[in-house]
Amino acid sequence: MKTEKNQIAGLDYILTGTIMKRYGPCGKRGCCCADDKKNWHGPYYIWTRKENKKTITKCLSEAQARFCRKAIKNMRKLRTKIEKWKRESSKAIEKWTQPVK
Ligand SMILES: [Zn+2]
Repeated sequence: MKTEKNQIAGLDYILTGTIMKRYGPCGKRGCCCADDKKNWHGPYYIWTRKENKKTITKCLSEAQARFCRKAIKNMRKLRTKIEKWKRESSKAIEKWTQPVK
């Protein structure tokens, strides 16, 4: 349990949501992206998350996307560690409790 606690404390930023990588046309007349998908601009990074039942979408730079991906990974790690921590906590309490008959 101590390990979980320490690992949780060592986690940096945490975020929820997903990062999408997108390419797209810019819409300017005469731009090479208009005739061929191969010439589409990008990548653009889009971060989508839910907050208070609302979906929030943000455009990110590549560096920001990298940062967010790491934070999303940290969130997943945190959830797994919390689960483990919880299991170990219930194991500990079960040692000195009796089942209800
Ligand atoms: Zn274009």
